[in-house]
Amino acid sequence: MSRFRIRAILILAFGGFLMVSTRLFYLQVVRGEHYRDYVENVRVETKWTEAGRGAIRAAGGELLAYDEPGFHIAIVPNALPDWPLVCKPVLKLYELRRRERIAAVRDVTVVVKDRAAGGGYEVSFGLAATFLRLAGTELVESEEQGTAMVVVPRRAAAVLEAVAALVKAPATELLKEFFEGLALVGRGWRRLGEPCVVARDVGFLAAAEIETNPDRYPGFVVAASARRNYPYESLACHALGYVQRVSAAELERWRESYNGSEAKRFLPDDLIGRTGIERAFDFDLRPARGVQTLEVDAARRTQRVLEDVPAEHGADLYLSLDREVQSAAEAAIEGHIGAAIVMEAASGRILAMASSPRYNPNDLPRKPPDPNDKTAPLLNRAIQGQYPLGSAFKLIEAIGALEDNKAPASIECTGAYLGHLCENHSVPMHVDLENALKRSCNVYFYRTANEFLGINGVVKWAERFGLGQRTGVSLPHERPGFLPTPAWKLKKYGEPWYAGETCNVAIGQYPLEVTPLQVCRFVAAIANGGRLVRPRLVDKLVGADGRPRTPEEDPSETLRLTPAKLDRIHKVMRSVCHELGGTARKAFGRSEAHGDFAQEQGYEVAGKTSTAERGGARGNIGWFVGFAPCSSPRIAFTVMIEHEEQRIHGADVAAPLARRILERLPERYLEGVPGRELRERFRERLARRESGT
Ligand SMILES: [Zn+2]
Repeated sequence: MSRFRIRAILILAFGGFLMVSTRLFYLQVVRGEHYRDYVENVRVETKWTEAGRGAIRAAGGELLAYDEPGFHIAIVPNALPDWPLVCKPVLKLYELRRRERIAAVRDVTVVVKDRAAGGGYEVSFGLAATFLRLAGTELVESEEQGTAMVVVPRRAAAVLEAVAALVKAPATELLKEFFEGLALVGRGWRRLGEPCVVARDVGFLAAAEIETNPDRYPGFVVAASARRNYPYESLACHALGYVQRVSAAELERWRESYNGSEAKRFLPDDLIGRTGIERAFDFDLRPARGVQTLEVDAARRTQRVLEDVPAEHGADLYLSLDREVQSAAEAAIEGHIGAAIVMEAASGRILAMASSPRYNPNDLPRKPPDPNDKTAPLLNRAIQGQYPLGSAFKLIEAIGALEDNKAPASIECTGAYLGHLCENHSVPMHVDLENALKRSCNVYFYRTANEFLGINGVVKWAERFGLGQRTGVSLPHERPGFLPTPAWKLKKYGEPWYAGETCNVAIGQYPLEVTPLQVCRFVAAIANGGRLVRPRLVDKLVGADGRPRTPEEDPSETLRLTPAKLDRIHKVMRSVCHELGGTARKAFGRSEAHGDFAQEQGYEVAGKTSTAERGGARGNIGWFVGFAPCSSPRIAFTVMIEHEEQRIHGADVAAPLARRILERLPERYLEGVPGRELRERFRERLARRESGT
């Protein structure tokens, strides 16, 4: 019994304890052949050793992502029956590479057709190659597209189908993986005797069957591997992201070193963080390969360890995300298309970042979402969705007008201004700043923007509050939103800015666009007294040395707001939720469906409802933003829902969802806030109701 076979049986038996890497296996088994070709006295052998990718944990320590042992099925190309026939297209390329001076091979496409007439499968194999040719006296580059046809012979096809049945995957999928893997041979990144992974994370039984019956499955081998596991499935999937096999481009870029680390460089079949935290902190999470230089005898028995650099486990990440708050936020927006964010107002620590619909990252390798799905489950709407904000923008405008001493004391709203309407209250009415915010009067803000602040004044304050720019949260693919300005319009259309456009911006409508995270951040600045924090998701990293470190932080910006003026805004936002005529009073006051929020929870909420039109036949965007408790703000929140209909107001759907999240806010975020006993009683009732007793 060979060393590998014993080891493989051990892995199969004690899979949970032993983690032997694919690479280790490659080197010992495959390169073993390679070494046997050498003369007997070759004495030095280099071996790579592997360690696991770092785990990701929630603030409370719960594991959100970790590596667990798994099995891949691989094909060793030159051990497959009739392998020269199967591998012909790649071999041809391999020869070409030497003969024709191919500079680069890209974009390998494999199309596997049905069974061919002569048995086996018909596979068409295309690739783009850049050839270096002599034209005249100059060396020029020319690009050519090559296609080859291969018929997989009957014997190889029979084995392929047997394995496909075992791993419950179509044989065509296995073939496609195989040819894509073979293309790396053409690039010189892999030898023909090295296994190409064709089926990932297969079940234990399938792996055991192939491992114990090598004669039945010639050319196929089992490779031990690490599988990324997300035990809470879709919980926080957008913030966490997912891992995927490294692409050819990434491999090309990082096969020598990754961010300067040779030990973290990529080999074919390695996994890389594709989105979310998995991508943003990929370098930290990624383990460092170890290397052993051994002196071996003719039978490859180790005589002496010349050098041993141990592999290093990737750093573990501790997120600010709170599992309970995240669950509450996800449950609230379940069934809607939208996003919900809960943030510590003073620090910018994100307690929940929910985007709906969600996906299960465990399923992604096998079941990638339908790219034509209009609900785009992979999209993290909290940072990638860009929406008009609607009247919540008035908060920024009101603060700007107060700070610049340009807020009109009172205006008369007649329901229209420059052809732009206000239909949010009865007219005519004299409205001051407080009333204009509470009743969401448009005319007050049309006039403030046009006659007092001016568009440049409005834009200045929107910029100060972080609109139209990325928040700098440690996630990839964040979108900046869009803040329209006269300078932009002149540059893009060669046209001047009109007063009517100032009206549109004044009430937060198109073309102004924001992300929900930008909104949560500016609301946090209103809550915390005027500091624009940088939202963050990672509390600490713990490296292999066990020492925790904190990711670098940008200092927050102080907006220098006058406390007395900001207090006026706080009071209005309180009245929105708790006073007669407030647009969110229905959600927070007593009704048939629920009790009065302040009486139930012992504290009050400050908020602003908002509805934005997306134009065309598309439905409205409903927002509810705010902070709590009103008197001593701890958390800022944002709920955004994409509606299919146009006649839905932000208060109708988003505000009650925000209430649901706040009702479930754990007591640890409300320390010192009066009303603890009330909340505990409420939570007991809630638990009884939800358990159905
Ligand atoms: Zn009005």
